[in-house]
Amino acid sequence: PKWVYAFGAGRADGSAAMKNILGGKGAHLAEMSRLGLPVPPGFSISSDVCRAYYKAGRALPEELKPMVDEALELVGQTTGSRFGDPKDPLLVSVRSGSRASMPGMMDTVLNLGLNDETVEGIAARFGDRRFAYDSYRRFIQMYGDVVLGIDNHLFEEQLEHFKNMKGYDLDTDLTAEEWLEIIRRYKDLVEKELGEPFPQNLHDQLWGAIAAVFGSWQNARAIAYRRLHDIPDAWGTAVNIQAMVFGNRGDKSATGVAFTRNPSTGEKELYGEFLINAQGEDVVSGMRTPQSLTAEARRQSNDRRDSLEEAMPETFAELCAVCDKLEAHFRDMQDIEFTVEDGTLWMLQTRNGKRTMPAALKIAVDMASEGVISREEAVASINPAQLDQLLHPTIDPDAPKEVIGRGLAASPGAASGELVFDADEAVHLRAQGHTVILARVETSPEDVQGMHAAAGIVTTRGGMTSHAAVVARGMGRPCVSGAARIQIDLDKETLSAGGVTLRKGDIVTLDGSSGEVIKGRVSTRQPEMSEAFATLMSWADDIRRLEIRANADSEFDAAQARDFGAEGIGLCRTEHMFFDENRIPVMREMILAEDIEGRREALAKLLPMQREDFVALFELMAGKPVTIRLLDPPLHEFLPHDEAHIGEIAKAMGISKARLSRRVAALREFNPMLGHRGARLLVSYPEIAEMQARAIFEAACEAGEKLGAPVLPEIMVPLVTLKAELDIVRAHVDRVAAEVGEERGMKLDYTVGTMMELPRACLAAGEIGLSADFFSFGTNDLTQTTFGLSRDDAGRFLGEYSDKGIIRHDPFMTLDEGVQELMAIGLERGRAAHPGLKVGICGEHGGDPATIRFCEEFGMDYVSCSPYRVPIARLAAAQAKL
Ligand code: ADP
Ligand code: MG
Ligand code: MG
Repeated sequence: PKWVYAFGAGRADGSAAMKNILGGKGAHLAEMSRLGLPVPPGFSISSDVCRAYYKAGRALPEELKPMVDEALELVGQTTGSRFGDPKDPLLVSVRSGSRASMPGMMDTVLNLGLNDETVEGIAARFGDRRFAYDSYRRFIQMYGDVVLGIDNHLFEEQLEHFKNMKGYDLDTDLTAEEWLEIIRRYKDLVEKELGEPFPQNLHDQLWGAIAAVFGSWQNARAIAYRRLHDIPDAWGTAVNIQAMVFGNRGDKSATGVAFTRNPSTGEKELYGEFLINAQGEDVVSGMRTPQSLTAEARRQSNDRRDSLEEAMPETFAELCAVCDKLEAHFRDMQDIEFTVEDGTLWMLQTRNGKRTMPAALKIAVDMASEGVISREEAVASINPAQLDQLLHPTIDPDAPKEVIGRGLAASPGAASGELVFDADEAVHLRAQGHTVILARVETSPEDVQGMHAAAGIVTTRGGMTSHAAVVARGMGRPCVSGAARIQIDLDKETLSAGGVTLRKGDIVTLDGSSGEVIKGRVSTRQPEMSEAFATLMSWADDIRRLEIRANADSEFDAAQARDFGAEGIGLCRTEHMFFDENRIPVMREMILAEDIEGRREALAKLLPMQREDFVALFELMAGKPVTIRLLDPPLHEFLPHDEAHIGEIAKAMGISKARLSRRVAALREFNPMLGHRGARLLVSYPEIAEMQARAIFEAACEAGEKLGAPVLPEIMVPLVTLKAELDIVRAHVDRVAAEVGEERGMKLDYTVGTMMELPRACLAAGEIGLSADFFSFGTNDLTQTTFGLSRDDAGRFLGEYSDKGIIRHDPFMTLDEGVQELMAIGLERGRAAHPGLKVGICGEHGGDPATIRFCEEFGMDYVSCSPYRVPIARLAAAQAKL
């Protein structure tokens, strides 16, 4: 088998297309080599070997050895040094990298190839002992941690202790002799912890590191990350072995990370950080505060230290050229790692950069406008589910607030919640329904689950590319990072700043857009939609076929829906209009009436109120279709349930408590969800349907006159099982339409359809379709009734079902296949009986991208969802069509 793929010096065995076996890092290193970019030579061991390694019970196949030896030889030929050569030793990094990006979750070892002998070779070759020993101590620490399993902390302690003793602030303060002393201490530490000395045999080191990187695929945090992101365990990681380049060789050396565009705003500018005389993770570790790449960014952050642009102008120009080339080639914003060794630029990694939603929109629209990608590709590049981030509230700028501290605006959005200091506790509290804000000095990959559970994250250390900032942006969590003036005491669990001390459980608000940390809760307000958002949405609208409507019962919801681009209302639940405090007494009067006359009297009082509601809705929707559902819930829902309440209400109504109690008892049902409701109620009390129909038609006339254009109401009958039910209700509606038409001297245009929410209705769609002008699948009830599962009680065991792998998705969130099949049957039979039957979906699923894809594929006419999900639906509908 071919297990080893070389890259470097303008050539490569692999390419970007081979992510599946080389991992993202390896495939892109190969691709960068092919592009002629400066990549230190190396090779990737394919993820097939990872699978073989686990299959053999964590053992590497024998055949791998000669392949690796040969590849290492080739790297040596390219660099001119040899692995293990005491005079001129080749040093390598051993890096993980799987096909899905899992930043920082697996292990990497740098500076491998050093022992007591070769370190002198390095010192002599570069004429720099300090650098050689610095590299060696880094190696012992990393190897000790990653391969030998010695707690990294113990090494750090040694170093901190030594620095304190000497009164040093920075690692760069140590001299060559002092690093030698540290090396001695580190080696003692290893021997003490392990009972044997630090390995001096370089091949043992190499194979130990390779096995450790494969092993890190199954470390706890990698497993947790895969769960969170749905990455299959079977993929495995590749191992990349690459010649070291040194950013820690003095003042003309540096290491850094960069995004080709700003990952927060999407602005086209080089964005990132670097450190002079540093290596590897120094930039993101928060040990030293990194410097800006561009002069502009330096000015904005008031940093007195030179930016890369100022310190190394030629290298900076070269870096910019590389970025342009990478973007043009990968046709996306890139997140890169680079190192400068003694004035020479080296590329160590590139991948598509994670970004906030506002940035994603701007980048997609800009790149399409620049002609790098097509409009379709721009539309396809946005994850509809993540649009959510944009549509959520931000801090109201006029609200009073007590700002206690400030940090970097690392990930936008605002969140309030209870303060916690521990990632596991965040997970725990979240599970109990709390909203929490996670406060840490800095975060590490171990904290990822806690960050996910938190509504927002604040750290006191680290820059815009710190772990906390990058991960929070990826998750869409607001984040304030590097709030240096805030003190966090992890033992006492307090956060102090500006003379205020907050304890665990206190409410705190973060504004990830301004970097403010605020005491207590702050009111928020709706976001303004960016130009890029509007542009992308208009492109999506050009592509999509499905009509997007909203579920809205109030003027407020309808206005929101219209602003988000809804093309009509797909579901107006009229019962919500009766719960109003002025109306519910009249509703009760109607329910308590002894006979039809009494009910008519009460209904006559409801008529003008209901008419007013509809006039407002019709006017607001300005001629766009509005689907109004006739009364659906059982009457019992409008009555009080407990004794105290019954007494109170009887008194207010001026009737005896006994009489009210009798009526309440009479209407009580064992299973109201499957009881006397919907069409069944309208069959029993047609006067309710008549009143609602009259309100709708009169409102349509009034609004039509005001608008100067006809209003087209769509009247929907809920919970129909039998064609006859629909026929009966429809007859009443038609009669009222004729009456109102006569009274007003005009012919009314309207349609009557049914909500499809019972399995039998789907099966009988061939008959029901004959009497319906439209079907609207009510997938909430259809899911309940198909599963025979109450959505209000299912929470008790659905969690267990999903843990045990019995169900893959919550059927109330993602449309179940059985329910889909019933819908397909209903659609097919309905359309066969009634060509041109209009078919849509309402219910929570209407805003779910996977469901929308199904609706597109089945040729439905529209989806209707909650107002906030309308933009998501518009985008998902376009993507379903691509
Ligand atoms: P991760 O996947 O966690 O980002 P990497 O494999 O990218 O881990 O390695 C971590 C860091 O080590 C990189 O940011 C890079 O700066 C440094 N590094 C890796 N390989 C080399 C190398 N050959 N020469 C110099 N630095 C390297
Ligand atoms: Mg990396
Ligand atoms: Mg229903």
